[in-house]
Amino acid sequence: MSSSSHVSVLVSQNEKEIDEDLKESEELMDKNDRESDEEEPQDVPERLESGESGQEREGLLSGHPADEELQENPDKNGLQAKYLIPSFPSVTFPNHYTIVTGLYPESHGIVGNEFYDPDLKDYFYYKDPRKSLDSKWWGGEPIWVTAAKQGQKSGVSQWVGSSSVIKGLMPTYHYPFDPNVTMDEQVSRVMNWLDLPLNERPTFISAYVSDVDYIGHRKGPDSVELDEALKLTDNMTRNLLEGLSQRNLMNIVNFIIVSDHGMVASNDSNLIYLDEIFNISKVHPLVGYPLVDIRPYDDLDTNEIYLKLKNASLNKPWECFLRDEIPERYHFRKSHRIPPILCIPLMPWTFASREFTTNHTTFGIHGYDNLEPMMRGIFLAAGPVFRKVAGNTKTNVVNGFYNIEVYNIIAKILELMPAENNGTVGGILWK
Ligand SMILES: [Zn+2]
Repeated sequence: MSSSSHVSVLVSQNEKEIDEDLKESEELMDKNDRESDEEEPQDVPERLESGESGQEREGLLSGHPADEELQENPDKNGLQAKYLIPSFPSVTFPNHYTIVTGLYPESHGIVGNEFYDPDLKDYFYYKDPRKSLDSKWWGGEPIWVTAAKQGQKSGVSQWVGSSSVIKGLMPTYHYPFDPNVTMDEQVSRVMNWLDLPLNERPTFISAYVSDVDYIGHRKGPDSVELDEALKLTDNMTRNLLEGLSQRNLMNIVNFIIVSDHGMVASNDSNLIYLDEIFNISKVHPLVGYPLVDIRPYDDLDTNEIYLKLKNASLNKPWECFLRDEIPERYHFRKSHRIPPILCIPLMPWTFASREFTTNHTTFGIHGYDNLEPMMRGIFLAAGPVFRKVAGNTKTNVVNGFYNIEVYNIIAKILELMPAENNGTVGGILWK
């Protein structure tokens, strides 16, 4: 089969979180801390293999039709990972862009949903295209740019970064983000791309749906409403698979479903008021959620503010770090966009200020330590390449891995030479 006949459909959706053994996470965290000193980016897979708990993954799609479709005949249908570990911070923009670049946020530059760049003297704000589309924000090389450079076409429906010119290129076909687009519409877009004549047809297609995240924040990860959103998302998955099947593409297309992060139940009673700790008029507007970026206007104030925060955090469910002291396992230091002081809460706490926090009710939050089991995402895959991997590894359920690995997996399927990235050379599934 020629490389051009391989189409990787990457569909992203957020995850309903599931009960997992906390001990497993603690062991993984301890292990990470022990190993962080000697760790090279490409040692990650070894750590994951040895960090295995043996616990079965119960994912977003468990018990739902699409999952059964993937699972009931695993020899025929594919592969799933026990979980997909997000990069830090476990929020939407950094992680979607990590998934398509294979880079940690500190390396691709999208270090949060909002952040300040002291060199550009400008704020990135994800909800405002005027503040996020400019090429100046976007580092690294997303897979659709890698594809374009090597003569392949792509179709991208509202993936983070796809509406920006990056390295002078954009997806061959793309739709910008529109919260009103239905899942049926997304399926039609994917199918229309697959129905193009061969010389116009993309080899890489991706689509993003935000419904599960949207409902999860407003109604909580354990709500009935979220179950409904999950069922709709599963239906979309089934429709995509049926569309492939009708076109006789099940033995040609490789299909991946990922989520960018998990979610934990919360309410507005877990707030840490920063203006009770230091004078917030001395710092740039507070950004980040649930963590907080603290960037003093005057560098000379950094130490004093940091010490106040450090004292206030004693025996409290949060920690503050100077940028150079952020734990190595976060891979979150080497960018000026990371603030001089970063404060990270434990679940389900969030930072706030008396002055600016208005009444809003949030029942689901993500953005915490990326090794928290509740922050995990999913990786489900079907298609000829994954069937082969499952055959070679003699299992349909592989160990969890970091989402920096997804870029190389897609590059391998498309037979593209990958750009420099933090994932495993050659793809973690082929190690
Ligand atoms: Zn979200």
